[in-house]
Amino acid sequence: MVENCIFCKIVRKEIPAKIVYEDDDIMAFYDINPQAPIHVLVIPKKHISSLAEVQDEDLQLLGKLLLGASKVAKKLGISEDGYRVVINTNRDAQQTVFHIHVHVIGGRPMSWPPG
Ligand code: AMP
Ligand code: ZN
Repeated sequence: MVENCIFCKIVRKEIPAKIVYEDDDIMAFYDINPQAPIHVLVIPKKHISSLAEVQDEDLQLLGKLLLGASKVAKKLGISEDGYRVVINTNRDAQQTVFHIHVHVIGGRPMSWPPG
């Protein structure tokens, strides 16, 4: 746990979040600034700053994040129509919160390529 990390604070329930899914290892909650009708973030409870920092020991946790994204999409009813899963990583991808998170975005058609 990292003292000043906003997502670690959400994990510790020190700041509120609209939680969609939670188990021993991961948590999913609504993004505070949604970019689509459905916009949820899936995070590990363990603090990892970005995808660039993951280690071999994180293999199972990384699998759980994607499995979590799939479960959240089903739970929120966007699985069949489709959705986008994004992990912004470091500066060029405009990562702003340095606790790894998987964006699950859906509820509308999306364009490609992303900006
Ligand atoms: P990224 O640019 O990939 O680092 O995305 C960080 C995301 O976290 C943005 O979409 C923010 O809207 C979202 N965010 C920041 N603070 C909070 C918060 N307290 N609760 C929920 N989402 C947040
Ligand atoms: Zn953190």
